[in-house]
Amino acid sequence: MPRIGFIGLGRMGLPMASNLARKGFEVAGCDLDPAAVEAFVAAGGKPAASIAEAAAGADIVVTMLPASKDVESVVLGPGGILESAPKGALVMDMSTVDPKTTDFVAERLAEGGLRMVDAPVGRLASHADRGESLFMVGASEADFEQVRPLLDAMGTTVYHCGAVGTGIRTKLVNNFLAIASCQMNAEALALAEGFGLNLETTLDVIHGTTATNGQLKINYATKVLTGDTEPGFTINLAHKDLSLIVDAANAARVPLPTGASAREALSLARAASYGGKDFSALLDHWCERTGIAKPRFRRN
Ligand code: NAD
Repeated sequence: MPRIGFIGLGRMGLPMASNLARKGFEVAGCDLDPAAVEAFVAAGGKPAASIAEAAAGADIVVTMLPASKDVESVVLGPGGILESAPKGALVMDMSTVDPKTTDFVAERLAEGGLRMVDAPVGRLASHADRGESLFMVGASEADFEQVRPLLDAMGTTVYHCGAVGTGIRTKLVNNFLAIASCQMNAEALALAEGFGLNLETTLDVIHGTTATNGQLKINYATKVLTGDTEPGFTINLAHKDLSLIVDAANAARVPLPTGASAREALSLARAASYGGKDFSALLDHWCERTGIAKPRFRRN
């Protein structure tokens, strides 16, 4: 069994690392938040007091961190993975970051004798809890084979998208649709409420045609429409992703008008103190802003 260092035990990293530990991997977990490390130990993991401690002696170091700057400092910064992991070790970044960061970090790691895989995560936090995530992987054939057992322990579906950097680019394409559709769902359901329509009947119609989407079917149905807006995936992180997506599209000279517009709708939600809520709460934000009652499933 490879020895794993796991850095970032947040909403996603904690269940992912816990699934690895539960399935027999030796995992040393590290987070800035001591409560996250305690929760990991309670789930069967080993604590690491620092990034250096998690990386020392590891065959594979996994990072699951909020943003590009966090990945850059954890991997390349003082006391980081590049300084601490054994030569030849593999770094698997699973965070959603700017592709430029992935490319830059991969180059610096290669210069230092380490290898890099980008393996961002698809589906919801609840899927990660159950070990049912989807992974899109950028890696050489040999590195892909090395990380495959870990991915199989944390999820059900793995795609090898191509060389390093293709996983994160695939993730940005995916999240453009996932997040923009969340805002479109908010506007559609506010419109239905404004028309005075029955929510359940309206959803039956939408789900019976090609208008439906996964966010509406799974995320809206289990979160905001039941009155649960605990994250899940926060509007702050969704805003971060759409910003990455719009910037990366711009750098590639690919116009993305719907993405830019959806990003600004999320900017409004953040400004209205919705940043810490689940991204399905874009519905509540839109209703509040437009003076429309928040749609909710009727209790039986
Ligand atoms: P989160 O904020 O819940 O967790 C991030 C964790 O990283 C926190 O516990 C934080 O303390 C820790 N951390 C930050 N800097 C650190 C450092 N220097 N050293 C050690 N620990 C550090 O975020 P999350 O929801 O788990 O998301 C993580 C990444 O996964 C993000 O890039 C996000 O966009 C992506 N993602 C999230 C979801 C989701 O549904 N939440 C789904 C797919 C992908």
